Amino acid sequence: MSKPSEPGLLYIVATPIGNLEDISARAIATLKNVDLIAAEDTRHSARLCRHFGIATPMVSLHSFNEASRAGHVISRLLEGECVALVSDAGTPLISDPGYPLVRQARAEGVKVTPVPGPCAMVAALSVAGIPSDRFAFEGFLPAKGSARRKQLESLQSETRTLIFYESPHRILDFLEDLNVVFGDREVVLGREITKTFETFLNGTPDSLIQRLHEDTDQQRGEFVVVVAGAAESPEEGAGVDVDKLLQALIREMPVKKAAAIVADVTGLGKNELYKRALILKGE
Ligand code: SAM
Repeated sequence: MSKPSEPGLLYIVATPIGNLEDISARAIATLKNVDLIAAEDTRHSARLCRHFGIATPMVSLHSFNEASRAGHVISRLLEGECVALVSDAGTPLISDPGYPLVRQARAEGVKVTPVPGPCAMVAALSVAGIPSDRFAFEGFLPAKGSARRKQLESLQSETRTLIFYESPHRILDFLEDLNVVFGDREVVLGREITKTFETFLNGTPDSLIQRLHEDTDQQRGEFVVVVAGAAESPEEGAGVDVDKLLQALIREMPVKKAAAIVADVTGLGKNELYKRALILKGE
C-alpha cells in the first residue's frame, strides 16, 4: 500500500468531570468519526461511549504505557488514520496522560487539534471568587508530607492564585499543611464539581479543617483547592502604609494585637503581618 501524503489528525478531546451532559456535540461527533480512540482506561471510556452510542475501537494509553503506546498511535496517524485521545475525566494532559503523545505527534508533523471542554481547575476557578486574572496550576502536590510542605513553602510568596488537585484521603493533611505554611489565606474548596454532592466551601485553612471534621461527608469525593495568592507586598494593603501603621501600634500594644488590627484594616494575612511586626520590632 502506498504511503498517504497526509497524516491523520490527533484530536485531544475533553470529556465530562461528572455530569455527562457537559460533553460537547463536537466531542461526540469526533469520537464517533475517528478511526481510533486512545483512552486512559478503556473500560471507563467504554461506559461513556455506550451512553452516547459511540462504537469506535479503543486502545489504552495510560501513564504506565504511554511512552511505548505513543509510538503505535503515531504510526497509525502517519498512515493517515485519525485518532482521539481521551482521559477518564476532563481535559487530557491536565494531570492526566497524553504529553508524550502530543509532543511526539507534533515532532512528526502530525496536526494536533483540541476539542475543548470540561476541566476541574477551570470550573473551580470560575466560581471561586478568588482573583482569576493570573493563576498557577500546581496539580497534585507530592503524597509525602515533608515533600508536600517543601513545595508549599516554595509557593508561599507566589502572588498569583494557586490551584491544586487533591484526593479525599489526603485532603485533611493537605489543609493542615496549608494552615502551617500559608496561615490565614483565603481558600475555596471545590468538591464533586458538576456532580450530585457538589459543594464549594470557603474560609481559611483552619476553618475548613474544622468544617471537614464537623461534617465528615465533606471529606468525600474529588477536590480542587483554590488558594488566594500572597499579598503583593505589605506596603500595598488597602492603600495603607502597613509598616508605618504596624510601627505605631507595636509601640502601644503587643505584636499579636497590632497584627490583628492591621489585618482587619488592610485585609492582609494576620500571620504575615505578625512576622513583619516582629521584624520591625527587631525580634
Ligand atoms: N484532566 C482532569 C481535568 O481536566 O480536570 C483532571 C484529572 S486528575 C487525574 C483528577 C483530579 O482532578 C481529581 O483528583 C480532583 O482533584 C480533580 N477533579 C476531577 N474531577 C473533579 C470534580 N468533579 N470535582 C472536583 N475535583 C475534580
